Amino acid sequence: MSKDFLKGCRDEYDVIVIGSGLAGLTAANTLAKTGRSVLLLEQHYQLGGMATWFKRAGGHIFDISLHGFPIGMIKSCRRYWTREIADSIVQLKNIRFDNPMFSLSTTFDRDDFTRQLVEKFKVPAERVTAFFDAARALNFYDDQNQTTGEFFQKFFPGRDDVIRLLMEPITYANGSTLEDPAVSYGIVFSNFMSKGVYTFQGGTDRLIGLMKDDLARNGVDLRIRSNVEKIHVRRGKIEGATINGRMIRCRTIVSNANLKSTIFKLVGEEHFDPGFIDEAKAVRLNNSSCQVYIALKPGDHLDESNGDLLFSSVAPKFETEALLSRDVTSRTYSFYYPRTRPGSDRSMIVSSTNANYADWAHLSDEEYDASKKDLIETTLAALEKYVPDIRGRVEYVEASTPKTFEFYTRHLEGASFGTKFEGLAVSRAVPQQVAGLYHAGSVGIIMSGWLGAVNYGVIVANDVDAYLSGGRRSAEVGAAS
Ligand SMILES: Cc1cc2nc3c(=O)[nH]c(=O)nc-3n(C[C@H](O)[C@H](O)[C@H](O)COP(=O)(O)OP(=O)(O)OC[C@H]3O[C@@H](n4cnc5c(N)ncnc54)[C@H](O)[C@@H]3O)c2cc1C
Repeated sequence: MSKDFLKGCRDEYDVIVIGSGLAGLTAANTLAKTGRSVLLLEQHYQLGGMATWFKRAGGHIFDISLHGFPIGMIKSCRRYWTREIADSIVQLKNIRFDNPMFSLSTTFDRDDFTRQLVEKFKVPAERVTAFFDAARALNFYDDQNQTTGEFFQKFFPGRDDVIRLLMEPITYANGSTLEDPAVSYGIVFSNFMSKGVYTFQGGTDRLIGLMKDDLARNGVDLRIRSNVEKIHVRRGKIEGATINGRMIRCRTIVSNANLKSTIFKLVGEEHFDPGFIDEAKAVRLNNSSCQVYIALKPGDHLDESNGDLLFSSVAPKFETEALLSRDVTSRTYSFYYPRTRPGSDRSMIVSSTNANYADWAHLSDEEYDASKKDLIETTLAALEKYVPDIRGRVEYVEASTPKTFEFYTRHLEGASFGTKFEGLAVSRAVPQQVAGLYHAGSVGIIMSGWLGAVNYGVIVANDVDAYLSGGRRSAEVGAAS
């Protein structure tokens, strides 16, 4: 008989959280701390969602999405998690760019970007100041028709090099493009610019391990390999969920699963107004990713002058289509030195590129394997420029594709950052459609990424708490990230 991963579960909880991404974990923890009974269900054998890692024989550990987040993560982790988690967040001080237009190293904050824009790119200082101030002032309630591309043109007309410097890392960080609303760019860019880029010392496995301990201390009932098959709604209200074939009752559900899967697969469109369903159908998924994971031989130390993050491209100019193309011209390398996991003697490199699901979804098994091999070979060839004799130094290499992300997280089309910006309004409107149903997870640009996901988890936990207390409280969305 197969193992019962729900053994010992109660028949009813105040809250069921579906999914253990950072938003799901944070919502569960916040609600448990207010005294609610919480059941957290994860279909995978590991917690974390996209905030994950994998191990391979020989002692190699690869991080999937530990590349960089804004300083705000320290405050959020101190408030909503533990001091130990917050104190393990450290700055990445050497961010590099290398493309046909320019090569530079930066601490990726406002002071250093100002210096580079003025000295290297010869932009007048007042223009740079005006741009930073305008980006910071963009907020959620502003006109959302202005695109990021239009916003840039106001300050830097015809300066494709400047736009590339300002946009390329944010496209990498959350999949946003020049065609997306400027507000989504302004908030995320300003968050990074306030104090630079941060990482978690000890690796994603340590972070999620510490979060798991805190959840257990706060009494969250945590279950892995527990797939939610159906959310039950009765007379417009949440009744419970079916998990691995068993129905468990609850007063509220926080779904951390993909927004569109939550509405169309888990609940079913018959429980929503037709107008809402039209809006939900119109929400676009975000793009997916490909990655190549490279482990150097034990004891082989990478030269630290490679930096921590390297945005490299051979494309003559910055273009969204080029960033997504199977014909890869842009790669972002994360260099993990032994200090990433203190005490280790390992150096790793993860190469990430944005990718279209459709380019990978319909290949035959042979074509898929050959394409993965090609991705590995072309990545190693491109990396040779920065890490000489890379092929002779590699001990292990593996690749992932949009299908891999889809398989492990159930995000439709392997979307790396959930949905596009319009998903946020739909996500926030879910509780008005079904009483007791909430969504917290990657939507839009502000509410994705590690910091956005944690903060969205808190916002939604506050909404759930208010609902359970019989009141209605709604946090400000723009203040979250
Ligand atoms: C390649 C890559 C690189 C990235 N790099 C960065 C970075 O450098 N910095 C940064 O800040 N962010 C980065 N991100 C984005 C960041 O990791 C995500 O935005 C964030 O972790 C998403 O959290 P989430 O709460 O939305 O949930 P997700 O991580 O999307 O997790 C959702 C969870 O729900 C579970 N689930 C789904 N359906 C069910 C079901 N029916 N039953 C039970 N469980 C279910 C899934 O298994 C999953 O665990 C990156 C993402 C990718 C893919």
